[in-house]
This record gives sequence, C-alpha cells and structure tokens, in this order.
Amino acid sequence: MYDVAIVGAGPAGATLARLIGSKLKVLLVDQRRPIEPNQKTYQKPKCCGGLLAPDAQKMIAMLGLGLPGDLIVGPQLFTVRTIDLQNFIERYYQRFYINIDRRKFDSWLVSLVPDAVDLRLGCSFKSLAREEGYFQMRLVRDGKAHIERARFLVGADGAFSMVRRTAFPAQPVPVKYTAVQEWFYPEKMQPYFTTIFDPEISDFYSWTIPKEDMLLLGAAIPHRHDVNKRFNLLKNKLKNYGFSLGPAAKREGTLLLRPMHMNQICTGANGVALIGEAAGWISPSSAEGLSYAFKSALACAQSLVKEPPDFLETYRRNAAGMFFNIRLKNLKSPFMYHPGLRKIIMKSGIMSMDVKHSPLN
Ligand SMILES: Cc1cc2nc3c(=O)[nH]c(=O)nc-3n(C[C@H](O)[C@H](O)[C@H](O)COP(=O)(O)OP(=O)(O)OC[C@H]3O[C@@H](n4cnc5c(N)ncnc54)[C@H](O)[C@@H]3O)c2cc1C
Repeated sequence: MYDVAIVGAGPAGATLARLIGSKLKVLLVDQRRPIEPNQKTYQKPKCCGGLLAPDAQKMIAMLGLGLPGDLIVGPQLFTVRTIDLQNFIERYYQRFYINIDRRKFDSWLVSLVPDAVDLRLGCSFKSLAREEGYFQMRLVRDGKAHIERARFLVGADGAFSMVRRTAFPAQPVPVKYTAVQEWFYPEKMQPYFTTIFDPEISDFYSWTIPKEDMLLLGAAIPHRHDVNKRFNLLKNKLKNYGFSLGPAAKREGTLLLRPMHMNQICTGANGVALIGEAAGWISPSSAEGLSYAFKSALACAQSLVKEPPDFLETYRRNAAGMFFNIRLKNLKSPFMYHPGLRKIIMKSGIMSMDVKHSPLN
C-alpha cells in the first residue's frame, strides 16, 4: 500500500513526487513511454510551445533548481510581436522567455524524482475504486493490467485528466480548446514570439515560436469548431500578411483548457487531489501553464507532508494566491480579447517598443 499514488509525471506530477518522495511512500505513473525500458527519458514531447515565462522561471528558482543548458534551444526571445489580423495593426513588446525543448524538460524533471519513489513510465491509469480508507487503482503496462492501492490519489494527468473525469464527473470543466501546432522549415527566421489575434480563427489566440531552424505555428481553436478549416485559414491569412512559412514537417494537436470561472478549477475532495492542468491551473489569458504546474505541486506537497488527514483543505488554502491570480487574469482578458478594446490599446502603442528591421544608415 502506498501513501500517495500520483497519476501523470509531467511537470506537476514529477515535481510533486520530487518534493514528497523521500518522506512518503509514493507511486508515480505516466502513460508516456521512455526511450528504453527503465530509463527516465521520454520518447515523445507534450504538444507545447516550450516557452518558460518569467513566472515559471521564478518557480524553478523557488524550487531550488537551475536549468541544465542542454534543455535550452535557440533563439532566446526578448520580443513579443503582436498582430491583430482583423485590423492589420502590429506592435512589439519586451518580454523575457527561455526557449526550451519540452521533451528534454519533462525528462529532466522526471530524472530528479528520488529513487525511493516507485516510478513506472509507459503505465496508464484506467480506473478507480474507493475502499475503506484507501483507493484501488487499475493500471495497465505493456498490455498487462494490475491493481495498486494507495491512501491518497493525486491526478496530475493534464487537460484530459481521467482522474478528474472519474472522481469528479459532475464538476464544471474549463472551456475547451483544441491546440494545433505545425512545424515548418522557414526560409527566413524571425526572432520573435508572435501572438496573433483574429476572431475568425479563435476567441483565444494563435502564435509562432522559432525553435532552432524550425518555426512552430500554433493556434488554440474552440474545441470541435472546424479546427482544421480554421487552422488552414490562419495559414493562408499569415501568408497574405507576409509570412513565408516554408515546407511543413509535422502537425500535432491536443486539448487545452481555459478556466474562465473559478468553479471550473477543482483541487479535489475525499482523498483525491488534482494538480497542474488536471485541476484547471493554467492562465486563461496566455495559456501559460508551467508556473501553475509548479505552484500547485508545491502547494499540494506542503499539505501532504504536514497534515495528511485533511490535506485537501490545506492544499486549497495554500493555493489561495493561485485562485486570486487566475481571477486577475480573467479581469485582464477583455483588454486582450475584446476586439474593440484591443484595437484601442494597440493603436495607442502603450507599453510597446520600436523594432528596427534593418541597420540604420
Ligand atoms: C499547444 C500548447 C502550447 C503550450 N505552450 C506553453 C508554453 O509555451 N509555456 C507554458 O508555460 N505553458 C504552455 N502550455 C501549457 C502547459 O503545457 C501545461 O499547462 C503543462 O504542461 C501542465 O503540466 P501538467 O504536469 O499539469 O500536465 P501535462 O504536462 O499535460 O502532463 C500530464 C502527464 O500525465 C500523463 N497522463 C495523462 N493521462 C494519463 C493516464 N491515464 N495514465 C497515466 N499517465 C497519464 C501524460 O502522459 C503526461 O505526461 C501549452 C499548452 C499547449 C496545449
């Protein structure tokens, strides 16, 4: 019997396991396969932009970690180019991101999990039964099903969380988007993180991110709303706007959540906690999720280690600042996403900077 079983070894689950793994008996499972059996390097990345925003950088610092150099990919980005495709306005803003290889990043976080943790990669959580004082989980690895028992269960299994769907089926869920990303070999690289707004494509946003010699084009499109058609429309619009995307290499997609109401965030109940995107912890204004994965893992770890019997209440209390932060982001959202307000702000040029596209003569 384990003290805690964690489903999902992404940034949230791996961080939680690292923080509690030496004090409690922990099982950590993830359905993603490693490159070799018993290795801690994932075969595949999560579909992600792979930008570490300042909040995520701060959390890495607060967790006492430094980023190994081999996770970083070029170019490092200091500029957000913002394009309003509806009104043909564009502006540049100064921001500081670290550009990372997401597969290596997740593998690094898993490599930090203490040996005392029972880590099983390539192992899927399938179902859950509540018994007197513990949980019984059905797991499948290499086609074989087996049962494990734990006193507490943590769902860190991302946007499509099976733990959340199984344990809290009636809980309101955040607004769903399908995130599509296509990788190109562009003829000319632009050293910007570009954010693109166009209500014909989405009420959220689209982006480009350079990664070494490739350019990533992504879009968060309302779930099941002509996703392919809208993504292709975005590509055409960008070509007409002057982007030369070049030959495409691959396309990927996944679910992305946007918590627009506070009741869509579920931290858990009755011995089951949710952390990271499974709980709905992700910025509703930018889809930045790594800082929230770290913050919720830390808040949950502190409550599990100190007060196991009512750890969920303590976790929720520890997460008060996160609730406040999501509320603030929702208040800020209309200035980015209401077409009229965005037009006024972008036209004013407030907080923007000039970028010289060619050397001065
Ligand atoms: C297209 C896109 C771009 C993004 N770009 C950025 C960005 O640039 N910067 C940023 O900060 N955030 C970004 N985000 C958000 C960020 O990726 C997430 O918020 C973050 O990954 C959440 O971490 P997590 O650990 O909660 O979940 P995840 O990273 O999703 O990890 C969940 C883990 O659970 C495992 N799992 C799922 N189901 C099961 C199961 N049944 N059994 C066992 N294991 C299971 C998965 O294999 C996975 O490893 C982006 C999101 C998307 C979709």
